[in-house]
Amino acid sequence: MTENKQYFCEELNNVLSCFHDRIMSCCSGQIGPVYYENYRGEKIDWDAFRKVKTDGFALLNDKDIHKSPCKNCFFLRERKPEDVISPVFTVLNISHWLQCNCGCIYCARMYSSHGKISQESGKSEFYDMVPLIKELYQQELLDRKNLLVSIQGGDISVLDEFEPMVKEILKNGVGKFDILSNNIKYQPIIKHLLDIDKTCFRTALDCADRELYKKLKRVDKFNESVNNLKQYAKSKHPENVVVKYIIIEHLNDNIETINSFIDLVSDIGLSQVELMIDNKYALFTNLDEKPLPAHYKDLYYAFKQRCGEKKITLHLWTKTEHIINKYLLSKEEKRTEE
Ligand code: SF4
Ligand code: SF4
Repeated sequence: MTENKQYFCEELNNVLSCFHDRIMSCCSGQIGPVYYENYRGEKIDWDAFRKVKTDGFALLNDKDIHKSPCKNCFFLRERKPEDVISPVFTVLNISHWLQCNCGCIYCARMYSSHGKISQESGKSEFYDMVPLIKELYQQELLDRKNLLVSIQGGDISVLDEFEPMVKEILKNGVGKFDILSNNIKYQPIIKHLLDIDKTCFRTALDCADRELYKKLKRVDKFNESVNNLKQYAKSKHPENVVVKYIIIEHLNDNIETINSFIDLVSDIGLSQVELMIDNKYALFTNLDEKPLPAHYKDLYYAFKQRCGEKKITLHLWTKTEHIINKYLLSKEEKRTEE
């Protein structure tokens, strides 16, 4: 008799993602088991909720995998004897709203938000997160010690719930936050989280110039953004602030702009930058058929060099690192990198 091989997925075991259209297991790009479709704040049947996870795992074997939404997902691996299904989640992704007060030309949410720019702050038009967070803790579904809470939706600047959410989570227990924001509005709670070393704060500035910023973000908020970064740089943990640079073809894809950006970050008093290749190439282009623009390699090296000169740590978004290694660097160059 052939063995019925069992599989395991860390995402399914650990991650709860609260998106605007569904509450689900992972954000892998593949839609894994869904806890709640089109959630709009209804009372949740928690036994049924828990069963989604156990049922999801029950299908992860050779015999049943064809019935699983996880079929063919690259996160699946063979199950080991020590793999146990955890009763709690250790990662909570909060991304339940779409509104934003800028309109980045590369925004992945544009399709759902139709590029609308909201100046007024308000509620998510889908559901409130605070009551859900309270219940998740009451149901002992969140790891109070090691929980990583990632908050990135539209933008926190226009979400009334942002600060109450953070306070509710702090009250109940958390490991760390990872907050992504366009940084147009100063948030005292972020300064507090930086002071107590409880968050990584990431923001995409993408340039060092007000006019270019307007073209990239479709709002005139460059000065506000820089001033807010200066305030966060005065926190007790400025090393937890990461300023991102997303390369956008024909706009900021040149060495001069890159150098000015790194100099600005250094002048502000921050020490971490992250380089990203934009979604047009990272997600929507088959790079085996249509290669990246050749000068992207020079941009990568320019980043490395200026960061080295300014003693700034350069991070590469996972997908960007993969693209650089696979499509930009030769074998010799990769060896030198190692
Ligand atoms: S196997 Fe893939 S689709 Fe399924 S839960 Fe894991 S990451 Fe999501
Ligand atoms: S800040 Fe984020 S959500 Fe807002 S437009 Fe830019 S990418 Fe989209």
